[in-house]
Amino acid sequence: MPAPTNPQVHLLTWYIANCARCAERWYEDCDAVPGGATEARALGDAIRDWQIKAAPDGKLYCEECFTIQACEAEGHPWDEWLPSRAVEFPDREVRYCPRCDDVEVRVVAAAGITSNV
Ligand SMILES: [Zn+2]
Ligand SMILES: [Zn+2]
Repeated sequence: MPAPTNPQVHLLTWYIANCARCAERWYEDCDAVPGGATEARALGDAIRDWQIKAAPDGKLYCEECFTIQACEAEGHPWDEWLPSRAVEFPDREVRYCPRCDDVEVRVVAAAGITSNV
């Protein structure tokens, strides 16, 4: 990075903690740029004010990636299978992950389902 030519302009070093999964995308929509003038400030700021969390793997993740990472590492804590609410798919069941909002769909046996046609 070139040094400023105007003596009243100075180059500022700014440290930002990135998410281990989405890198700098986690603060794209933030009004303020998180971080600080030292590495310690950047880490403290991220953890204290921006809900950046340390996962069991020792890495830092933003809130959204923290839940995704937990599901990738431990598997989804699926809710129970429910009948699909989509009338065009009476042979489907769905289940949701309450942690990361993932959805799984399966086709169930037609037994017990009567056709209205
Ligand atoms: Zn992230
Ligand atoms: Zn999940």
